[in-house]
Amino acid sequence: MSQDEFRAARHDMVDYQLRRRGIRDEAVLEVMEHVPRHRFVPESRRPAEAYSDGPVPIGSSQTISQPYMVALMTAALELKKTDKVLEIGTGSGYQAAICAELAGTVYTIERIPELHNCARELLLELGYENINCILGDGTIGLAEHAPFDAIIVTAGAPTVPGFLEKQLAPDGRMVIPVGDRMSQVCLKVTDRSGKHHEERLTACTFVPLIGRHGWNK
Ligand code: SAM
Repeated sequence: MSQDEFRAARHDMVDYQLRRRGIRDEAVLEVMEHVPRHRFVPESRRPAEAYSDGPVPIGSSQTISQPYMVALMTAALELKKTDKVLEIGTGSGYQAAICAELAGTVYTIERIPELHNCARELLLELGYENINCILGDGTIGLAEHAPFDAIIVTAGAPTVPGFLEKQLAPDGRMVIPVGDRMSQVCLKVTDRSGKHHEERLTACTFVPLIGRHGWNK
């Protein structure tokens, strides 16, 4: 597939999967029209699945999330150009790239070394100098760089990890899928004067968040 054909597929993705399903945040729509999602999908799954309407396997039994979920969660973060963002679950690196286009700095943590290495190399190749890839257990957050204006967890947690909540800045926003291993509700947690408010965004299905404050396997 040529670059023009990938661009056309991306345009259709934004139009049919995002705009027509109610994503209204023009900044999010614009970056998803521009970031080459096909580069984050394994070559063996291109071109067919690069812009398909669902999660796509990326190896190590993990997935790159459905474009609609990426858009919905990113819009809920209400990112500003000065924001410091923490992502738990680097996976392919796609969500980190989307956040990096809209925010100041992104820290992204992945627990699987192969995925961490692959995403770090690709993000460097694509020129994302404001993304810091970290290998480790994201359920404990990243105290040395806290607080964060926005936290996005892209794996399903049994509960909201307290460590992460404590690393949210005043007026910070966190999005996180919470539920059992098979299905979750995507929550938005917002800090207002030190008190945290929860809002349910949508039902969803993510791979499990595995770690000290997540599932144990
Ligand atoms: N955001 C990713 C993307 O754009 O491709 C998709 C993430 S995938 C649905 C979930 C990722 O979370 C997997 O790569 C998985 O290994 C990772 N993960 C699960 N538990 C984790 C933990 N405690 N710390 C860091 N990463 C974790």
